[in-house]
Amino acid sequence: MEETLKSLNIDSGTLIDNISAGKGLKIFKILNLKGETVFLFINAPGERFRVKDLIAVKNCFLGEKETLKVALISPGATVRRIENFELKPERHLEIPKHLTDLFKCPNSKCITNKEREPVKPSFTVTQREPLKLKCDYCDRYLSREEVEELIVSGK
Ligand SMILES: [Zn+2]
Repeated sequence: MEETLKSLNIDSGTLIDNISAGKGLKIFKILNLKGETVFLFINAPGERFRVKDLIAVKNCFLGEKETLKVALISPGATVRRIENFELKPERHLEIPKHLTDLFKCPNSKCITNKEREPVKPSFTVTQREPLKLKCDYCDRYLSREEVEELIVSGK
């Protein structure tokens, strides 16, 4: 991996590894990159004959919200910092019990969708595997697929 980073001159940035196969493009999309060098591997060889996706981005560091979004789209993904072409230790992504202000509630009648209400959308994780969330205001349940769609569509 370090050789690849050198050949692409990615001396500093972020590597997102162990992305579930097929989710790489979605994660690439939510990172909103402009002009940075990126490499995206699709169906790269992973452990135990499985394939995975993987992204490295020059000069890009994930904030708390972006990191959470990556974890929601691909729960097994790991994030590593690149410094001087070297990879720093892996960070496993944890989804907290409450998620606030990451995406909108799909219920148009929910108070968080009323323009005049300064209420930030907020959800509680009611189940981890498979992921299930519940809106803290209207009690609408969301599946992992719905969450992924809301994040990728930028809602
Ligand atoms: Zn709601």
